[in-house]
Amino acid sequence: MFEKILIANRGEVALRVQRTCREMGVQTVMVYSEADVNAKYLRLADEAVCIGPPPAAESYLNIAAIVAAAEITEAEAIHPGYGFLSENADFAERVEKSGFVFIGPDPETIRMMGDKLAAKRAMQKTGLKMIPGSEQPLPADAAQAAEEAAKTGFPLVVKAAAGGGGRGMRVVHTDAVLANVISVLRREAQAAFGDSSLYAEKYLDNPRHIEVQILSDGKNAVHLGTRDCSLQRRHQKVLEEAPAPGLPRKREEGICEACVAACKKTGYKGAGTFEFLYDGERFYFIEMNARLQVEHPVTEMITGVDVVAEQIKIAASRRLDLKQKEIRFFGAAMECRINAEDPATFVPSPGLIRQYHAPGGNGVRVDSHAYGGYEVPPYYDSLLAKLVAYGEDRKQARARMQSALREYVIDGIATNLPLHARLLADAAFAQGGVGIRYLESKIKEGFAAPGAAV
Ligand code: ADP
Repeated sequence: MFEKILIANRGEVALRVQRTCREMGVQTVMVYSEADVNAKYLRLADEAVCIGPPPAAESYLNIAAIVAAAEITEAEAIHPGYGFLSENADFAERVEKSGFVFIGPDPETIRMMGDKLAAKRAMQKTGLKMIPGSEQPLPADAAQAAEEAAKTGFPLVVKAAAGGGGRGMRVVHTDAVLANVISVLRREAQAAFGDSSLYAEKYLDNPRHIEVQILSDGKNAVHLGTRDCSLQRRHQKVLEEAPAPGLPRKREEGICEACVAACKKTGYKGAGTFEFLYDGERFYFIEMNARLQVEHPVTEMITGVDVVAEQIKIAASRRLDLKQKEIRFFGAAMECRINAEDPATFVPSPGLIRQYHAPGGNGVRVDSHAYGGYEVPPYYDSLLAKLVAYGEDRKQARARMQSALREYVIDGIATNLPLHARLLADAAFAQGGVGIRYLESKIKEGFAAPGAAV
């Protein structure tokens, strides 16, 4: 096992990884930007190293500074968390070449999964079903690209092969605007991801987003069941749960086993998530995330498995100790992403948290770096906390989440707590199994407006 791990991230996930390291008796090195110098979790770590000024490009994305921090602190391995450099193959390569262990898949795998079209091709070979669409990147010429994309049929979605985090995709309903949308998206993709390749895919009407968490060492693999992440706004997840409610048992087992088989066939190493759109009949693969995901705690709550500990163990020994038959599934869990943003306009709301009181009680877990007196910096993602509730069934998890939301006090800045409270009280949500468009349709009806009844 490693003696010392450097955590190349910030905020809640930096603290999350730090907690598991401490539990495993591993020392931690935190890196931080000048904007995070006062964050409390830095003081909980064994060492902390400043890696640059506030903008992420100069700090949390600064590969040379992070590797130098590992060198001066003599860390043995680097955990990238999620976001920032977690899916950057060049970073993983540089880490390994500098003599450290990258806690995640090998650089070639990261590179392939980062190109969604290449990932689709690879996964198709393992037998997973794909959404119909382009097999090759769209041609560079906009008119030709439009002609090629239109073969998919309307509505369709044009996606940047290197896109992520809900960015780099556009839904197109008619031929008239297609060439234009392709040109705009190509420029955006080049600017945002440094890669302008695009592909087209059939746009499914209102499917559910269902994903499978796996752990794999290249030879052996296990799954930790399903999650439902259909509650989204602008293709970004807002609330997630495990297991995906109401799935026919056979179908759920089938897709989980198919993911395990795909890991073995591709020799995947590390923790990962297969993402699917589910139309009530079939699971269509959309992408694989070759890293820890924001929503992993709901899986931890229903299995008792610490996903971060497993990542670290796989990286240290290159072996997975878990056996599928030893993994048990209990109850249900939900996670609300608490963001520092206006609940009606969704505009980020950085600033000083004056009062902070986190909820508690049986089955309630709060993963957050926030506290009273913490200043939310304006430079990064607005995720402030993940509020997780577990219950012996979905009904109990939901009741506990409602109670926890009522207890949660975050004063001084705006948060989306009221949006979550309304969502939890919604009849269709209570029923379970809504599609990916549901939340946006409710927001259009005024769900998030100030004063809407809870
Ligand atoms: P990202 O990497 O940005 O998360 P994904 O490919 O995982 O992008 O898609 C994110 C979300 O976008 C999905 O959960 C779904 O809501 C929506 N989406 C993506 N592809 C399609 C599609 N073909 N049809 C309908 N919705 C889609």
